[in-house]
Amino acid sequence: MKEDQDRFILRGQTLAFSGNPFEVGVEDAVDYRQDGAVVVEGGRIADVGAATDIIKQYTCAPVINYGDALIMAGFIDTHTHYPQVDIIGSNSQGLVDWLQKHTFPCEAQFDNKAVAENSAEFFLDQCFLNGITTASVYCTVHPQSAESFFEAATRRNVCMAAGKVCMDSNTPADLADTAQTAYDQSKALIERWHDEGRNQYAITPRFALTSSPAQLEALGGLWSEHPTALMQTHLSETKDEIARVLEQHPTYDSYFQVYQSFGLTGEGAIFGHCIHLSDDERRAIAVSGAAIAHCPTSNAFMGSGIFDLDATRRTAPEIIVSLASDVGAGVSFSMFATMRAAYEATRLHGVVLHPAEAFWMATCAGAKAMRLDDRLGNLVPGMDADLVVLDLKSNPLIARRVARAEDFFDVLFAQIIMADDRAVKETYVAGNIVYQRAQAST
Ligand SMILES: [Zn+2]
Repeated sequence: MKEDQDRFILRGQTLAFSGNPFEVGVEDAVDYRQDGAVVVEGGRIADVGAATDIIKQYTCAPVINYGDALIMAGFIDTHTHYPQVDIIGSNSQGLVDWLQKHTFPCEAQFDNKAVAENSAEFFLDQCFLNGITTASVYCTVHPQSAESFFEAATRRNVCMAAGKVCMDSNTPADLADTAQTAYDQSKALIERWHDEGRNQYAITPRFALTSSPAQLEALGGLWSEHPTALMQTHLSETKDEIARVLEQHPTYDSYFQVYQSFGLTGEGAIFGHCIHLSDDERRAIAVSGAAIAHCPTSNAFMGSGIFDLDATRRTAPEIIVSLASDVGAGVSFSMFATMRAAYEATRLHGVVLHPAEAFWMATCAGAKAMRLDDRLGNLVPGMDADLVVLDLKSNPLIARRVARAEDFFDVLFAQIIMADDRAVKETYVAGNIVYQRAQAST
């Protein structure tokens, strides 16, 4: 604990955001320093500035010099499934086949707490190795899957949101809860874990096809009793799913309206995918203050469709669109892979995603989606020191490309297109190093 109290300085290139690049433009949104420094004290960011000024001001503090590596806020993954680490990259015919062939048999094993503990630890290791310091995580239907995850997160003092998945329809018998047990178990978990240390609870109906109206109603009621918890679910991932939801809920005009009618939207609601939304749904999400978790590697891998960021933002400019891996339907923990796929998705819709926009989505937007933007997700004084240090020349090919880069944005762009987990040099959580890349590991 002693090192938490110590003040120290990290020196390197620094990236922070002073605004939303989609709103104020990339030049005005980005606060970049070629030779910057970050003062860390008591697990928080105490100061950020030009290295020469900072070092002059905090003369007694030790300096860790990262040279030309980039110091920035840790990545935030707003939609991921920790129990699915073992089925990542498994082939299927699409969403329903994926759930039946891979997901449900895998998740059934989590009635064994040892399985949950092992996967939770492995998952968090993978997050840190990829510079992810906060995520919004789906567990399984078993309450102990959430217990195990929060226990592992607590041991690491990392800020994670998670929730027991609720599912009582179109579900194998060994994975089904009921409206009442979903409510009772989720409530007990909220009381035990929400805001306990750095943990956040997310009420988690899997999606409208696997929750009965009674269960959705019970969970909407639970959220109104615990409004500071998050709510996460899937929305509008495939066209077949949308048709089935509307068949199951014939009185509603849209998929989103189903969640809305049960009180399952508003600030702190995170909807995964949102690929095939109507303009009315986009506007309704924006007005409610809910956020979208864009899961581009998953969408391509599953053949679900291509999220249209530009159309979404044109219809509802204030909408929060964060980035997410959706492991294990998503194929990588790497936020570079996720940003790359997000870039490709915009290209397929004829638009170019700027690297500053991508990095903002992978940090600040995620914090905003999770209602944590007053405490993390950016490199500004007062925020938790959840940081990643990136090697911008992590392999010979990137180094060669970066040597020709036009400017800092071009360097960031090269990372999005070419980098992988080897670019993550160190990951800090609350001011402590939780991952350090071994030297000369090529
Ligand atoms: Zn998912």
